[in-house]
Amino acid sequence: LVPGDFSQESKKVIDFIADYYSNIENYPVLSQVKPGYLKSQLPDSAPNSPEPLEDILKDIDASIIPGLTHWQSPNFYAYFQVNASTAGFLGEMLCSGFNVVNFGWITSPAATELETLIMDWVAKMLELPPQFMSSGNGGGVLHSSTCEAIVCTLAAARDKVLTEVGYEAITKLVVYSSDQTHSCLQKGVKLVGIGPSNLRCLPTAFSEGFSLSPQTLEDAIQEDIKSGLVPLYLCGTVGTTACGAVDPIEKLGEVARKYKLWFHIDAAYAGSACICPEFRHYLNGVELADSFSMNAHKWFLTNMDCCCLWVKNPDSLINSLSTNPEYLRNAASESLNVIDYKDWQIALSRRFRALKLWVVIRRHGVATLRFHIRSDVNLACCLESLVARDSRFELVAPRKFALVCFRLKAGKKNNKDDESLNQKLNKKLLQEVNESGNAYMIHSVIGGVYFIRCAVGSTLTEERHVAGLWKLIQEKATEVLLNTTY
Ligand code: PLP
Repeated sequence: LVPGDFSQESKKVIDFIADYYSNIENYPVLSQVKPGYLKSQLPDSAPNSPEPLEDILKDIDASIIPGLTHWQSPNFYAYFQVNASTAGFLGEMLCSGFNVVNFGWITSPAATELETLIMDWVAKMLELPPQFMSSGNGGGVLHSSTCEAIVCTLAAARDKVLTEVGYEAITKLVVYSSDQTHSCLQKGVKLVGIGPSNLRCLPTAFSEGFSLSPQTLEDAIQEDIKSGLVPLYLCGTVGTTACGAVDPIEKLGEVARKYKLWFHIDAAYAGSACICPEFRHYLNGVELADSFSMNAHKWFLTNMDCCCLWVKNPDSLINSLSTNPEYLRNAASESLNVIDYKDWQIALSRRFRALKLWVVIRRHGVATLRFHIRSDVNLACCLESLVARDSRFELVAPRKFALVCFRLKAGKKNNKDDESLNQKLNKKLLQEVNESGNAYMIHSVIGGVYFIRCAVGSTLTEERHVAGLWKLIQEKATEVLLNTTY
C-alpha cells in the first residue's frame, strides 16, 4: 500500500461510488441480466501484468453494474433493507484501511476494547438488562451474520447440556421455534449436529398475529419430555422475516426458564427499532433470555456486515468455541483479564467491525438513528393506508414496523379455487412491478396465502418514492386484473 497511489486511487474510487449514488435511480432496481451473462464479457484468466484502475472501473461500469441488484436504491423494497450511510462507509474504510485482525486482545487491544465498549453502548440504547453488559458479567460480540450468532449460541447451549447429561444424548436434544422463525435456525440446528426431526417449528395463526403461543410451546415441550427427549433451545423472534410478527418474549421466557431451555431472541431486523421508546416494549422480558441478536447492517445505518450478539454468560460460548494452540498463547490471554473474541465466534480471524459501528453511532447520534427508524415507519404507515383505501387490495398481516404485507384480491377468502387465482394474480402483479425496473419487492406465503411484502427502509427512500411505488402497483394491478381470465 503506497501512500501516494493509495490516496490518488482511492479518491477515484470514491468519486466513482459518488457517481453511482447520483445515478442510482436510473438503474433497474432488480438486475435484468440472464444467468451466465458475465462469462462472455470478461477474460477467462487472470492478467499477467498490473492493469490501470481506469480500465477496471470501466469494466465495473460496463459489466458489473448491470449485474447488480441495487440494494441501496430508494426503490428497493425486497427482503429487508441493508442500510448504508456515509458514516457506515467511512467506518468500513477505516476498518479496511487498518486491516487489523483482532482475534485476541494482544492482536489489537483497541479493537477488542472498542468492541466491548460499543456493545455496551448499544445494549444501553436498547435498554438491555445489565446482565448482557460487560459490567454485569455478560457482554456483546460482533459477528458477520445472525446465522453465525445462532450457530454459536446453539453450540454453547448444546455443550452446556451435554456436559451434564453425556454426549450420547445429542440425538435427544430438541430445539423450538415458530413456523415463522428465520431459516437460519434450521441451518444452525443441522450444523451443530441436531437432527432436523428434532426441530419443532410450531404453528402460528393469523388470530395471534403469527406469533408463537406460549401454550403451544409448553404443550410441545411436555410431549417431548414424555417421549424421553431433552428440550434444549428456544428461538423467539422480534420482527419475523415473512411478516414482521413479534413473539411474546416475556411469556416465552417464562416457559423457557421453567424447562431450563436456552432462550435466544432473534431481532435481526426489528431490534434496531427498539432504540425508540415506543418500540422498546417488544423486548419486555428480554431479561429472561440467554442471548439476543440484531443486525446493525439491516436498519441501523451500518454498512454490511455487522451482527450484534449479546450473551449473559460468555463462558458458555467460550467453553464451546475456545481453542488454544501454542502459537496463540500470550501473557495477556493467560492473565484472564482480557477478552479474546476468537472464543466468542466461529472463525479465528475477525474484522475491526466495532470501529464502523462506533463511527456510525458517533456521526449520527442516538437522536438521528431514532429519527431514521421513525421516518421509515411513517412511510410504511402511508403505504399501508393507501393499500387500505383501495378496495381491490387487502392487508394480510398486522404491520408493526416498516414492513407492509398486502395482496390483490381475486375472490372470497377461504376458498381453495379463489386462493389459486389470488396467487396467480399476485405473482403476475409482482412480476410486472419488478420487471418494470422501477421497484423491487418479494413475496411470501403464510398459511397457504400468497402475498406481496414491501419492506420500506432503504436509506434514500422518501415519500415521493413510496407514492411512486403505489402508483406503479395500482397501474400494474389494473392491467393484471384486465388481462386475467377468470
Ligand atoms: N433472522 C431474521 C428475523 C431475518 O430477517 C434474517 C434476514 O433477513 C435473518 C435472521 C438472517 O440474517 P443473516 O443473513 O444475518 O444470517
